Amino acid sequence: MDRSGGAVMAWNVFRFCTALRGLGSIMILLVLCIVGLTYYAVVIANYGPTLFNGGLDSFTAFTVLVLFHALLAMLLWSYFSVVLTDPGGVPPNWKPDIDDERGDADPLLESAYIGSVVASNQLNVLGDAANQGVRYCRKCNRFKPPRCHHCSVCGRCILKMDHHCVWVVNCVGALNYKYFLLFLFYAFLETTLVTLSLLSYFIMFFTDGEIPGTPATLATSFVTFVLNLAFALSIMGFLIMHILLVVANTTTIEAYEKKTTPKWHFDIGRKKNFEQVFGINRRYWFIPAYSEEDLRQMPALQGFEYPTKPDTEALQQL
Ligand SMILES: [Zn+2]
Ligand SMILES: [Zn+2]
Repeated sequence: MDRSGGAVMAWNVFRFCTALRGLGSIMILLVLCIVGLTYYAVVIANYGPTLFNGGLDSFTAFTVLVLFHALLAMLLWSYFSVVLTDPGGVPPNWKPDIDDERGDADPLLESAYIGSVVASNQLNVLGDAANQGVRYCRKCNRFKPPRCHHCSVCGRCILKMDHHCVWVVNCVGALNYKYFLLFLFYAFLETTLVTLSLLSYFIMFFTDGEIPGTPATLATSFVTFVLNLAFALSIMGFLIMHILLVVANTTTIEAYEKKTTPKWHFDIGRKKNFEQVFGINRRYWFIPAYSEEDLRQMPALQGFEYPTKPDTEALQQL
């Protein structure tokens, strides 16, 4: 009974993951459609024509158009950076560095130790994310670096996996988390700008006075306003959640794990936690890229090693 139940569950999950994979190009198309609709409503139907009215109208239209295009460029750059950047996989020959903790470098002892871990029946629970012990993925049949998780949609282990995002058709992990946060940031600013700039048209819709524009452009402005308002509000929630996660040096997955793990070794102070995602070089904080120096100097940006604080310090903070 249990066995068949498990099989049905696994089958359903598999179907779900396949469906998510199939959604891929449709979601990118959907994002581009929303961008296209918004572009039409803001630039072509409303602010483009008022640009040549003269006086305050022209000034407002110019400001809105410049901000709109600048934010759109950053939004699309961040979006495609998340879509196209590999979140970080585990190389087949990767194995945990156990020398540090065990204090011996004897290759025979090391292989015997790893062998015993593999043979153990508690592979998934050995060494939870917080103590950096030896972790093993039974689906990929290989060791997992600290903070790495298996994604059933991608079908592989992802370094510092945060979540699998259907909007970007990719996993969000160690190598593209910053780009994902920037995408959220610019998407929030852009949708807020669009909401505010179309607010007057939205209000006009409910007044009795004469409304400029054809029914088609009015309908587009109305739909665009509602869509952007909904996105602005939901992205704001996401953004606040992720800011809190970055400050505490936690991924979405780890936030659930932490409920059973009172000590969080990876939290090494707000500034350093932030730098582990955004890098040290301030000039790169607002663009989806890292300086070569940061990549060289900060192992955390590669996704395999993370600095931790000692147990005593972690306990003091409880
Ligand atoms: Zn795996
Ligand atoms: Zn994934």
